[in-house]
Amino acid sequence: MKEEKIRFKDAVKINLRGLLLVYSLVPGNLFMNAMLIVVDVVCSYWNFFFLAKLVNDVVLGSSREVLVWDVILVTIGQTLVLFLFNLLQKFWYYSGSNSWDAPNAYLNEKIMSMDYEYMESESIHNRRRDIDAMARYSGGGMCKLFWLATPVVERMIQMLVAFGYMAYLASRSFVAFPGEPWKAVAFVGVFSIAFVMLLILSMKKNKVAEKKMNQYNEANVPNYRQYQFYTREYMEKEECGKTIRMFRQQNVLSFYFDKLMKEINGNIDKIGKEDQKRNVWVGAIEALVSGLVYFLLAVMVSKGAILVGSICLYAGCITNFLLHFRGWLAQWVEISVNTKYVKMYLDFLDIPNKKYEGTLPVEKRDDDKFTIEFRHVSFRYPGSDRDVLKDFSIKFHIGERLAVVGKNGSGKTTFIKLLCRLYDPTEGEILLNGIDIRKYDYREYLSLFSVVFQDFKIPALPLGENVAVSREYDASRVKSVLERVGLGELLRKMPDGLNTPLYTDFDKNGVDISGGEAQKVAIARALYHDTPFVILDEPTAALDPLAEYEIYSHFDDLVGTKTAVYISHRLSSCQFCNDILVIDEGKAVQRGNHEKLVKDQEGLYYTLWNTQAQYYQTEG
Ligand code: ADP
Repeated sequence: MKEEKIRFKDAVKINLRGLLLVYSLVPGNLFMNAMLIVVDVVCSYWNFFFLAKLVNDVVLGSSREVLVWDVILVTIGQTLVLFLFNLLQKFWYYSGSNSWDAPNAYLNEKIMSMDYEYMESESIHNRRRDIDAMARYSGGGMCKLFWLATPVVERMIQMLVAFGYMAYLASRSFVAFPGEPWKAVAFVGVFSIAFVMLLILSMKKNKVAEKKMNQYNEANVPNYRQYQFYTREYMEKEECGKTIRMFRQQNVLSFYFDKLMKEINGNIDKIGKEDQKRNVWVGAIEALVSGLVYFLLAVMVSKGAILVGSICLYAGCITNFLLHFRGWLAQWVEISVNTKYVKMYLDFLDIPNKKYEGTLPVEKRDDDKFTIEFRHVSFRYPGSDRDVLKDFSIKFHIGERLAVVGKNGSGKTTFIKLLCRLYDPTEGEILLNGIDIRKYDYREYLSLFSVVFQDFKIPALPLGENVAVSREYDASRVKSVLERVGLGELLRKMPDGLNTPLYTDFDKNGVDISGGEAQKVAIARALYHDTPFVILDEPTAALDPLAEYEIYSHFDDLVGTKTAVYISHRLSSCQFCNDILVIDEGKAVQRGNHEKLVKDQEGLYYTLWNTQAQYYQTEG
């Protein structure tokens, strides 16, 4: 990862925005944090203050009643405050645990709403993986910011209160040395120098250690990502499980797995060792200065500037100041190091959607009369220098059946992606009823299409929700489409009807369905949405040509008067269509019905038909 300097002003902005995001999702946390800070500060000083008062009251020979109250405040009072603090802290952890999910909530939202083209970019996926890896393994990023923000603010308040007491103590040095202001100033000077020295030393040690820790953590990010890949994206997948077993991949994988673990653990080990060294030094210096502080306080008592009991209060304040200063510095450095990861996260959320989104409503037509036209469309994928579609022009109307055929890689799926505006053309335009589709409201435009993609996915959700893609749905319509696609029998066998979860990934009462059944669920999903256009983009690629033909021609009855677009690299599947478009190397090269195309011996269709014929000529 490249070292990137973030200016202080920007760092403040980044962290504040990060905090706002977390708090806006769980607003109760802000109140909880403020309460916790107040109670913790009170808790810290309660003991110092009332213990000092008790000792001083004893020394001054105060009444029994006063002493009893002092004892009550020191013991029961302190216990009650501590109890309150612990209670609040418990709630803080409880409510704060929501913050673990808050950053993911925004990321998930972003992933689902960002331009589709980003989904096909590995670098975008790697960015999210790095954010995950950082958060999961080193607790870095948004969660760290949330958990650090409260103690950082609290420590500042703790230091402020301690500083107030110390300022008062400094003013008492003039009482200790009456008429000798130089001595008083010198006294405060010695005190301050010792104090500042300790602060500086503390600061230096912290910075070095944190910097090292950051370096090791960063060095581990690619390791974490790779580790996640092996464990989550490879080993757990069924298809990989087969390869692992068939080719005995265990040895190769174990080698890389061990190598990664060694690197990760080696780096963590180094952090631990550095930390130990630092703690020894800081502890030793702290002990030295504490001794000096007690000596100076004793001088104040002997000079009558403070009462002996107040040593508890001032020594407590000083120790508290140092403790919180060191902790504050460490956490401040942690925040500043962590800023980079918060930025990584926010930058991800800020990835701009480039697609122009118009506002025109899509005309609602009772007659569903829609015309789609590709006019001189060329398209190349982002980052590529090759046109996948070249000067592509076609026109088709609602109610028509269009079959798009061509070799693998000729641009058929790309044509569908452009039609559904998952991408915009690099050149040329696509028109719906004569208007550039970019000018339409994107959601409205999309609502014209139902697509069954080649790589369709059926998530592990209840059957009814899967078909309707909604928590609420019209059960009788869902049942009707399931019957129509031939899943009536399956539905009747489902133990909980439409509420039966598909697959057993997350529910032991789920029902596993076959690839063919999943495909029918995907088709039912497309039909349930009752859109003017239905597109089948080779969802049957895994089937043999005859089975595909059967599904396609059966589907033709299902779509009724809608416009259907069938994509296939197998010509046999689409011969029932009156309108066949042949794509070759991104160009629309032929169009017509099967009879016409197969007669053109110069055409690609003829060649493909004859080459593929062996696969689908039936015995009869
Ligand atoms: P078909 O559906 O006809 O098999 P596609 O439309 O999927 O063909 O692909 C057409 C060409 O575009 C192929 O050469 C393919 O490698 C390329 N391609 C597809 N998707 C991407 C992408 N996301 N980035 C770069 N090139 C791509």
